[in-house]
Amino acid sequence: TRQFFVGGNFKMNPATREAKIALAKVLNEATIDPSVEVVIAPPAIYLISLQDVLRKDIKVAAQNCYFKTSGAFTGETSPAQLADSKIPYVILGHSERRTLFHENSNEVAQKTRAALDAGISVILCVGETLSEREAGQTAQVVQAQLEPVIAVLKPEDWSKIVVAYEPVWAIGTGKVASSAQAQEAHADIRSFLASKVSAAVAESTRIIYGGSVTAANCQDLSKQTDVDGFLVGGASLKPEFINIINARQ
Ligand code: 13P
Repeated sequence: TRQFFVGGNFKMNPATREAKIALAKVLNEATIDPSVEVVIAPPAIYLISLQDVLRKDIKVAAQNCYFKTSGAFTGETSPAQLADSKIPYVILGHSERRTLFHENSNEVAQKTRAALDAGISVILCVGETLSEREAGQTAQVVQAQLEPVIAVLKPEDWSKIVVAYEPVWAIGTGKVASSAQAQEAHADIRSFLASKVSAAVAESTRIIYGGSVTAANCQDLSKQTDVDGFLVGGASLKPEFINIINARQ
């Protein structure tokens, strides 16, 4: 059985250190289902301070990293530096990185390889745009995003990969995928992993859903066979994040 996974992607929020400490306090005092793996991704500048104040059963994740270990790469953070700071996870390939910062799937693959080599687990984001969905290309687009990453992974790497299916049209729009849409996309990803990697990897890899997840819609989604958790944006900044973590209770 796959451990339920709930990530909070704070993106470039909230504005102040105080607001982040307040969020940590809410999490620290909450009753959290101990069977759930909870990971919070604050902006890079707050990773260490948030990790220091958070209870030990909640992990932190970077929202991005570069694929080089060190050097003249102004503005970037290396996987080795994340590892040195004991940051266990990194989100890679988020649609905002792909769209606003022009990251392609080959770069995402390079970053994934580099993160794993540094001992960092990866939350790997994939997902189609609205026009791609309407053109019936969802599975094809997601597979094309996964393929370069699959090509650089060894069988033993997969225990450190969480795949996040995040349809672009659902991110920050309030338009959550229906449970049926999410289940279909997740099942397609799982069978793709079965055919391209192995049945064992397909069975054990967590595939989580992201895109307008709220306390109101998380329970239904969490009941889908192939939905193994969530990557939450906006709602991870609110107390309702606790309800999302506990969706399966
Ligand atoms: P929202 O939950 O705000 O739609 O964002 C989802 C997301 O992008 C998580 O990575």
